[in-house]
Amino acid sequence: MRKNIVAGNWKMNLDFEKAEELMDDLAEILDEKKPEKCEVVICPPYLYMELAVDYAQEANFEAGAQNVSSFDNGAYTGEISAEMLKRLEVKYVIIGHSERRAYFHEDNKVLQAKVRKALDNNLKPIFCCGEVLEERKGEKHFEVVENQLKETILKLSKEEFSKIVIAYEPVWAIGTGETATPEQAQEMHAFIRGLIVEAYDEKVADDTTILYGGSCKPGNAKEIFAKPDVDGGLIGGASLKAKDFAAIIDSF
Ligand code: PEP
Repeated sequence: MRKNIVAGNWKMNLDFEKAEELMDDLAEILDEKKPEKCEVVICPPYLYMELAVDYAQEANFEAGAQNVSSFDNGAYTGEISAEMLKRLEVKYVIIGHSERRAYFHEDNKVLQAKVRKALDNNLKPIFCCGEVLEERKGEKHFEVVENQLKETILKLSKEEFSKIVIAYEPVWAIGTGETATPEQAQEMHAFIRGLIVEAYDEKVADDTTILYGGSCKPGNAKEIFAKPDVDGGLIGGASLKAKDFAAIIDSF
């Protein structure tokens, strides 16, 4: 049985004091709520990763990274390896976010290498896919997502694939305030689950957590999470406010 997840992607936001305050507030809220219907993950900037892992030992959330190097350790200035994250006891890592694809030119080959490093080091990838607005308008969205998945994670063995969480994030909905309708999210999630059946089998597809991401907020999370193939969300902006994030967690 697959699990629901609500993951917060803090991106490149917050100074140290604000990051600590947010983790503290979240720990307190989740201590009261003790969310049982989903696992909560926070993905802060690397600089606050150790703090997040320390909090995660006591609090009702897990720690995730926003990125990982496609290389092993060595002469790769500015990079953080999967082994470093593993040693810190980070549990998840976001791979293939549209901002990494667009601003840092990460293509499917690089992303596949990142997934490999993550899996080799016991990190659980949250693998993002999604189309840009022109592709949606041109009705190419299914084809785009199919290629993104077939050229990367759908090449994994069944056992490796079972460690993957997928996040469908239509790029036109990220940080824009424009959300996919619950029906649009469900349609794509069901399509993705169908691809997993084709590549593996029904059981693997049934067990795969597929998150929605893109301007998800307290006001729309309930409707989106109610769809049968939506198993939670990858949350950007709204994860920076403890109360909003907690309200989204409460939306199951
Ligand atoms: C994201 O960047 O993964 C995201 C979903 O952002 P936002 O919620 O701000 O649209």
